[in-house]
Amino acid sequence: MKRLHLPAAGLALVLAGCGEAPAPDGAGALALVGAQLIDATGAPPVADSVVVVRDGRIVSAGPRDATPAPDGAETLDVTGKTIIPGLVNLHVHYREGPEEIERQFRSQLYFGVTTARSIGSDSPERVAHLLASAGRADAPRTYTAGLGFSYPGGFNAAGRNAPTTEEEARALVRDQIALGAHFIKMWVNAVAEPGLKIPPEIRAAIIDEAVRNGAVPVAHIDDEADGRQLIEAGLRDFLHSTVLTFGPGAGVPVEDPDPSAEFIQMSLDNDAYFTPTLSIVQNRWHFAEHPELLEDPALRAVFNPDALARLDDPASRAEIVDDPGFEDRKAAFRQVQDFVKTMHDAGVAVAAGNDAGTPNVPFGWGMHHEMALYVEAGLTPMDAIVAATATGAGRMPPVGGADFGTLEADKAADLIVLNADPLADIRNTLEIDRVMRLGEWVDRSGFMPAP
Ligand SMILES: [Zn+2]
Repeated sequence: MKRLHLPAAGLALVLAGCGEAPAPDGAGALALVGAQLIDATGAPPVADSVVVVRDGRIVSAGPRDATPAPDGAETLDVTGKTIIPGLVNLHVHYREGPEEIERQFRSQLYFGVTTARSIGSDSPERVAHLLASAGRADAPRTYTAGLGFSYPGGFNAAGRNAPTTEEEARALVRDQIALGAHFIKMWVNAVAEPGLKIPPEIRAAIIDEAVRNGAVPVAHIDDEADGRQLIEAGLRDFLHSTVLTFGPGAGVPVEDPDPSAEFIQMSLDNDAYFTPTLSIVQNRWHFAEHPELLEDPALRAVFNPDALARLDDPASRAEIVDDPGFEDRKAAFRQVQDFVKTMHDAGVAVAAGNDAGTPNVPFGWGMHHEMALYVEAGLTPMDAIVAATATGAGRMPPVGGADFGTLEADKAADLIVLNADPLADIRNTLEIDRVMRLGEWVDRSGFMPAP
């Protein structure tokens, strides 16, 4: 069959030389041929697909017979593999200076995380670094909330914004937006004394000022009453859940963990959504319970070195797993997983993020673990993949206008080629053959230095 095309292609070249005919359709394009395609639109997987990429964008993606590789395209046979979109992590905290940030970029791309939202701990210098990375094929697409908001003496208040009046709050919100923050983050979760939580009128001022100035307000919550007040004030973007997971009283199962029917309805009516962030809770013990995971050199390479040193020490692992409260912690965590399942089944959008950058949550590898925790919570592997790609992408500013997160014509060519089927076992998302960011293959070969 291929030989039959030769005379036509030769003729096209001759004619193109005279300025008479366009170049073949596929010139400059790459066609990935034969893989199972999971496009993350919610459509069923396509068993035998062709994905065509050109100039950093998807040209077409679909069944081989409906979307054949165009003439002149370079082709890559990916038979037996699976293609999914690059992962979208809605909850990261970049750490330290420029060199470390670049390393965190590489850690994410190595594992196919092609978009990250840094949410509340970025200094002006770091915001500038993240903004300057826009459009780089060797860095993930990055959003930032600059420095987040708390209350004097409250959760994470040190070094963050802690206004005590509405006017002060509005001015500080404008400062963050002037620096380039896309989001405005606030911590509205349990603190030692109830009076140290951001008061409702200051939360409302933060939300109003953010929206007025084109930023998206987002809140860490652990209580349904706070969730309602924030939705009423105009916030739609929640981190964590309505189950207590931080601060005083956390680590034991709560009495009434399930979100009420009323709150679920309110979330649906207002299109509020959640990034439940399971890993930050479960990773407090997971690697101590499963030290064999730390034998993986790729995981070691992205792990926080101090946390890794602690976990390599059998005595500190024993301290965690032999703690009398260990089973309680696990039962409390199960309540958060149940929240994910309940909200998802009710139709409330659930995206994915994991608090990467905190000591026990590694960049890159950690997003695959977060997806596995969703499947353990009761979601299907397909649901987990959609949550970790399209759902989050669709909520990034400009909200509703995402040009990434699914594998469809005109979307950014951010994708992962897998050697094994993630629908059979979600852990197979770690079986990475190669990663593409903005149409370019990520150089994964040079990544494996000891931390
Ligand atoms: Zn966080």
